[in-house]
Amino acid sequence: MEEEFVLAKVYDPHQVEQKWYTFWEKQGYFHADEQSSVEPYSIVIPPPNVTGSLHMGHALNNTLQDILIRYKRMDGKNTLWLPGTDHAGIATQYVVEKELAKEKKTRKSLGREKFIERVWQWKKEHGGIIIEQLKRLGASCDWARERFTMDEGLSQAVREVFVSLYEEGLIYRGDYIINWCPRCHTALSDLEVNYKETEGKFYYIHYPLKKGKKTIIVATTRPETMLGDTAVAVHPEDERYRDLVGKEVILPLMDRVIPIIADEYVDKNFGTGALKITPAHDPNDFEVASRHDLPAIKVIDESGKMNENAGQYRNLDRFTCRERVIEDLKRQKLLKKVESYIHNVGHCYRCNVIIEPTLSKQWFLRTAPLAKPPIAAVKEGRTRIIPPVWEKTYFEWMENIRDWCISRQIWWGHRIPAWYCKSCGELMVLREDPKTCKNCGSKEIEQELDVLDTWFSSALWPFSTLGWPKKTRELEVFYPTSTLVTGFDILFFWVARMMMMGLKFMGDVPFRDVYIHALVRDAEGQKMSKSIGNVIDPLVMIEKYGADSFRFTLSALAAQGRDIKLSEDIISGYRNFTNKLWNASRFVFLNLRDYEVDENFKPFDYYSLADKWILSRTSKLIQTVRNALDNYKFNDAANSLYHFIWHEFCDWYIEFSKERLGSNEKEKAFRRSTQQVLVEVLDIILRLLHPFMPFVTEEIWQKLPGTKGSITVASFPKENVDLFNQEVEEKVEILKDVIYHIRNIRGEMHIPPSQKVEVIIFCENKETESFLKNYRNYLIQLALIKKLKFSKSRKRPPASATAIVRGIEIYVPLEGLINFEEEEKRLNKEVAKVEKQLTFIRKKLTNEDFLHKAPREIVEKENQRYQELLEKQKKLKEGISRLIEMKNTD
Ligand SMILES: [Zn+2]
Ligand SMILES: [Zn+2]
Repeated sequence: MEEEFVLAKVYDPHQVEQKWYTFWEKQGYFHADEQSSVEPYSIVIPPPNVTGSLHMGHALNNTLQDILIRYKRMDGKNTLWLPGTDHAGIATQYVVEKELAKEKKTRKSLGREKFIERVWQWKKEHGGIIIEQLKRLGASCDWARERFTMDEGLSQAVREVFVSLYEEGLIYRGDYIINWCPRCHTALSDLEVNYKETEGKFYYIHYPLKKGKKTIIVATTRPETMLGDTAVAVHPEDERYRDLVGKEVILPLMDRVIPIIADEYVDKNFGTGALKITPAHDPNDFEVASRHDLPAIKVIDESGKMNENAGQYRNLDRFTCRERVIEDLKRQKLLKKVESYIHNVGHCYRCNVIIEPTLSKQWFLRTAPLAKPPIAAVKEGRTRIIPPVWEKTYFEWMENIRDWCISRQIWWGHRIPAWYCKSCGELMVLREDPKTCKNCGSKEIEQELDVLDTWFSSALWPFSTLGWPKKTRELEVFYPTSTLVTGFDILFFWVARMMMMGLKFMGDVPFRDVYIHALVRDAEGQKMSKSIGNVIDPLVMIEKYGADSFRFTLSALAAQGRDIKLSEDIISGYRNFTNKLWNASRFVFLNLRDYEVDENFKPFDYYSLADKWILSRTSKLIQTVRNALDNYKFNDAANSLYHFIWHEFCDWYIEFSKERLGSNEKEKAFRRSTQQVLVEVLDIILRLLHPFMPFVTEEIWQKLPGTKGSITVASFPKENVDLFNQEVEEKVEILKDVIYHIRNIRGEMHIPPSQKVEVIIFCENKETESFLKNYRNYLIQLALIKKLKFSKSRKRPPASATAIVRGIEIYVPLEGLINFEEEEKRLNKEVAKVEKQLTFIRKKLTNEDFLHKAPREIVEKENQRYQELLEKQKKLKEGISRLIEMKNTD
């Protein structure tokens, strides 16, 4: 026996994973050759934040990408999976600021330059964590090409894009109401604001008319902003206020005269129907003001404090100011009433502080003209969105796109390449840093302080990572990329913007297919979150169950358009599958002691029925898996592999093969051919499984006779239609049915495996009879038969159990095998026990209290248990009636 063919008794992922990953990297299998003329297949990774650590979303996203990449690599494509990380502006700055706070420092005390150095330092020390974690998962990225959104090349791309868009007039500076975080000191995009239902107050305030004693009442949730009011607006068709339009009021507390205007934006039925207008601190008021040419007065500063325009309230925090304003209004009897009010309040997605809409100078990208080509590209099918339900969302966004505020008031990021001249006010946007003002020659120039939104650089990712703006061979070969795998939550943030930039600067779509995967939720369908405490850590799962079982679980659950409900139990269940594969492989190896690769041996001359059957099934499996992967149906591919390996290869073929493997010397060729089929089928299974389970498949494949190199670069199996054999498949189904029914009788009658039985078969159809006679060995072996007889008549032997399947009558005489009285007693006892349990659970399941209080999961488990017990009860009762029947035929 050749020791090297034998696998360890138990599969231990720890022994295996690191070993193979290092081997693959060392061999350079993940490296794409840009000089190759082979058909390319490329994916750019959605770059995880450099601050990130692997969560379930990453795990799913990268498992799916790795499956595609490994599949295409094996299938002979020139495969590139380009990895990298995102500098994640606000997120990273926030992490480093927190670190500084521990040292009692702030970014301001450090200064811009020192702070940025510090962030780079942090990146050097901690930025590689997620990359290492991706390797643990088995991700076969081309690590030599790893990029970072702030590395030199990518920064070059950002600058080139910014300057050329500016030169085209697509980038402009403007006044705009933005979402401002007073803690992070930065503008946030609409998508970076979390709206939360908050209990607030609705204040009704009298604004006295300039002439006369009357007042007009406005209602607001943010009374401190009234200090910046520049009008009161009513609906033009509101009878109540018709006479007041064009008149003036005196703004309380500020004693400023402001007009009453009419605008259709006002909702007559909301509040009092009169609206205070604060253009500098409300996006809708800003729009109204621009229609009516009203001034905007900013009263709140960057830190959320009242500024010099707030008069006596200057320097107060905005919320303290709110209290003071209310007190003062009360004192002046200008506060009519206060109502409780639940409304949605915007919070910073990063630090959770309440957003202050603020007027400020920002940089904008005019997106409407850029959005047209991406709409056309998807309509014309140049880029496919899969599943197609997401197309609608994509079009909706693209067709209603608003200008993109691309400036951020933070330090970590691509600083905007614009310079202001302090002498003449000239604004310069340039590809090279200027030393003097190009207008007046002054040396007093200063670079814009703002940096670009993080998504600006990630929008360039598919081409900046391939070397753009240089004309590289990589761009030529790998752009457009083949597939993008991403979550729907960044369809707009990222996918839509890559489409705009790719079409604009490369003249072609950035990817042919966009595969949008679902979310990973907990077992009950809740979103995983730290505060709920239902987070499953991918790295803990990999440590406990191995990367392969974990990856396989995710892919088996990755149905298109359906969220994944994940629990540790499911992962542990798939570990059994990994072990099943391992044990089946051990069986194969143990039967290869006398096997040698022999090119001259023609196995097909000696194939058994089972050999032909498994080869036909295997070829169909190849077709199914390929088809599923080509259509991004990862779960279909995984589940058909699971079913085939467990229920066809292990349950049946391995059992069938024992008959041939036990052949004596004389029939060596039969043994030889079955050995070869075992090797071939296992080889195909391993290669089909490799994209899903890279480690265990490599470990086994390396020991398979006739393999060379690595399974990573072995060819992906192609179906052989010549091996399809419907007739054989149907015949084997008959054998399986007969065996199943005999086994069933054995089970019901409690006959131990050591006890072989006698079986008598009667077939009306003579053809079936001769078929069963020909393959009697399979029946004898798999149904544990000591004597198999074919009866000429339908006469049932005394005391025998019967089954009829496909017109075949099966008799199993039980005389002497079981004690009928004892067996009936035992079965009755079992029935009683099951019925007692059933009553107990039934009581629980009809108890309203239990149903209300118990977690849904528990109720579901009880329900399931109830169904199982019912099934058991039915089986036991069948057994009893079988016994009674037998007694009666005596
Ligand atoms: Zn914030
Ligand atoms: Zn100048």
